[in-house]
Amino acid sequence: MARILAIGIATLDIVNLVSAYPSEDCEVRALDQRVERGGNATNTLVVLSQLGHACSWGGVLAEEADAAFIRADLLIHNIDLSHCRHQPGGKNPTSYILLSQATGSRSIVHYRDLPEYDFEQFRRIDLTAFDWLHFEGRNVDVTLEMLVHTRRMAPHLPVSVEIEKQRTGIERLFALPDLLLFSRAYANASGFSDAISLFAAVRPQARQADLVCSWGETGAQAQDQAGVLYASPAFPPPCLVDTIGAGDTFNAGFIDARLRGLSLANALQSACRLAGRKCGQQGLAGVVDD
Ligand code: ADP
Repeated sequence: MARILAIGIATLDIVNLVSAYPSEDCEVRALDQRVERGGNATNTLVVLSQLGHACSWGGVLAEEADAAFIRADLLIHNIDLSHCRHQPGGKNPTSYILLSQATGSRSIVHYRDLPEYDFEQFRRIDLTAFDWLHFEGRNVDVTLEMLVHTRRMAPHLPVSVEIEKQRTGIERLFALPDLLLFSRAYANASGFSDAISLFAAVRPQARQADLVCSWGETGAQAQDQAGVLYASPAFPPPCLVDTIGAGDTFNAGFIDARLRGLSLANALQSACRLAGRKCGQQGLAGVVDD
């Protein structure tokens, strides 16, 4: 069991299941609706907790009606909230998700009215109490400050950063972590049609890091610091049910595998296996097979 701290967000996800993705300016009836807690960092923690790790979340919780729902879900999964900041008022980040039954894909509209987790709050955390630190790549200036602080206070603490979306200046985060976890969406938005081209472009800015990029139904690829490439295929479930949180599950599986000392190649495969299992079920609860 490792002690893991993740900095990022918790959201409320309102998921409408539709038979097929609607065209613009039409009205469709949802087949089903469910409300879940989401957010990349907290999703990853919920999976890591099921994998047997002691998990803590550093993030902001707006004390409005939805906070109780988010808090209850995190507590059920034994996530420690003592490093979380409680914000009076505002609105917890909310994702309105359309899940297409035809393809299993999800499309997301996101709204938030919440300050970001700040450096002062982060600075109070005793980083020596953790075995792994994971960041969502957002709020670049402050995340960079946190990374610099971590390197100074806990130079041997393994650090991963998830790079999921294009955000102004996000490349400034590349030079500090041990592991960069990219998404296909980021690769595509940066003009790359495959993971290897992304790695080639990123490498000069991230000489110290292992680079990983998940690529949906085709699996995932990685490149170690020496430039050696690795790949794993995806492990499709018997029936594709729900890909929401597949990337977060993949990241959890990869971090867990590295904590267990697995090689990059084996960690990729282990992460794809777990993410594939997630795609065969709704939500994240019970994704780890005992
Ligand atoms: P995100 O959720 O960020 O869009 P991806 O789509 O890249 O992330 O998915 C992450 C991982 O989940 C992939 O590397 C793969 O292992 C698994 N995965 C995603 N979609 C499928 C699928 N249709 N079948 C099997 N595995 C999948």
